[in-house]
Amino acid sequence: MADKTEACDVLIRNAYVLTCDAKRTKHPKGAVAVVGRKIAAVGPSAEIEARFKARRTIDANGALVHPGMIDLHYHITQHMIGKMIEEASLEGEDPLAWIGRQYTGMSNALRPEEEQANAQLGALDMLRNGITFFVEPGTVHTPDAVAEALTEVGVRGSLADPWMIDVPGPAFEAITAVKPDTKHCVSALGGQLKRNADPDARVRGHVAIYGVGGQTLDLMRAAKSLGERTGGPFNMHQSQSVDDAEGDTRRFGKNPLVRYAEEGLLSPSCVFVHMNVLREDEIAPVVKSGLSIVWSPTNSWYYGTRQQAPNRIPGLARRGVNVTLGLDVSKAASFGDQAYTAYVLARDQGDYLSPEDILQMQTLNGARAMKVDSWLGSLEAGKRADIVVRRNDLPEVWPRHNTERQQILLARGKSVGIVMVDGEILIEGGRHAKLDESVIYERADRAARTLRERAGLA
Ligand SMILES: [Zn+2]
Repeated sequence: MADKTEACDVLIRNAYVLTCDAKRTKHPKGAVAVVGRKIAAVGPSAEIEARFKARRTIDANGALVHPGMIDLHYHITQHMIGKMIEEASLEGEDPLAWIGRQYTGMSNALRPEEEQANAQLGALDMLRNGITFFVEPGTVHTPDAVAEALTEVGVRGSLADPWMIDVPGPAFEAITAVKPDTKHCVSALGGQLKRNADPDARVRGHVAIYGVGGQTLDLMRAAKSLGERTGGPFNMHQSQSVDDAEGDTRRFGKNPLVRYAEEGLLSPSCVFVHMNVLREDEIAPVVKSGLSIVWSPTNSWYYGTRQQAPNRIPGLARRGVNVTLGLDVSKAASFGDQAYTAYVLARDQGDYLSPEDILQMQTLNGARAMKVDSWLGSLEAGKRADIVVRRNDLPEVWPRHNTERQQILLARGKSVGIVMVDGEILIEGGRHAKLDESVIYERADRAARTLRERAGLA
């Protein structure tokens, strides 16, 4: 046996390691060594333990260890608003009026304090469910305040310029931050990219516009070209429901993805969120373009699959399209429910995605969509140490037979034990290791009361 010649800060041993690398390498009796912010080595436990002398050793006790998960679409400052809306049957009612009163009302009422309170509670919820990096789609009013709040909690985030909408429409009229003007949007685009100058910044920036009928082709062209020039993605909502897909078909004279392809607007830099409604002639352009799809299975299910059927995303994933997941807003489901929902929705569509397929969507595929896969998204030597260590002191994970299915689908977020971001242990023993969580909870409660009062809902 070799001498322990190398030092490491943390060694996770006796682990069932899913590296989520491109080959989906597994080490059922594996270990991971971490030095500083980075992964130093991953491999069979015996080999890694013989090589490293560790400052701290974590025994995973046979539980699953995998990369921190990535949520590609989360409206972080609406985190508590999503949970606070009063639900009602919308039969015979105008849903826009209801959304306007509640959702838009509270969103318009957000000031930096309430945005920070939302961000911290959302970030804590993510970390406790094993999400270490999330992408905000451009609906934060005060990005600097939110970046500061997120950095305190320690989650990685990527922010975009607020409310990039240049087509006036009934869905956006009530949002006070929206200034539907192409010139304004084009000149503001890319304002958050300044954050990427610091390679160690927890909060980064990307290019996004809102989409779903709120964008001209000119604004799309500007966003796509800026994303490509700066080596990042271009992100927007697209074809969430039959209504907005049909609205696009009317204004473009053909189905939107077909029109985008003809206009040269599809490429691997495109990251389109939802894509629940894709018509037959849109499949070929999507597959050919190399774009990424952010699927929100809990959102899709919340609004009813009958609105969107057939959902083609599971089939597209099997055809090699880069599919990743995003919670959108936590309403009746949390970050830990995403994998389970993706799994049953695939079955609902007569398709199949394995728990490993879904974990891959939530790790390497997410990093690929954001163009950060050279340093994030899998457990490989040299990449940043964003790591989840699951627990197996839960009945759902016994007997140890289908470890991936039992941990990912049955135990879900409950089985998240230790969460590390950039080599720093942030969650341990079911709690934030550095912050008093009760401060975050009380701040959230105060902000929630303020929002309801300002929105006239109190
Ligand atoms: Zn969204």
